[in-house]
Amino acid sequence: MGVPKNKTSKANRRMNRAGRYTGFTANAISLCPQCGALKQPHHACPECGYYKGRPVKQAAAEKAEKAEKPAKAE
Ligand SMILES: [Zn+2]
Repeated sequence: MGVPKNKTSKANRRMNRAGRYTGFTANAISLCPQCGALKQPHHACPECGYYKGRPVKQAAAEKAEKAEKPAKAE
């Protein structure tokens, strides 16, 4: 085991602990290669239902096909 050469100052110790216990961590987010929407990594895309380049959610895939067509209402 390495032994600390110098005592950690109160300020440095508190700075370390402040960072460690804030509980703020970046949520894992990746982009869907199919539609570019934000999605969780290793999960099927909630927007288009694709995972690894193929549709895995039937309903979501149909919804995505409708979304690709331009909506005249808006
Ligand atoms: Zn997608």
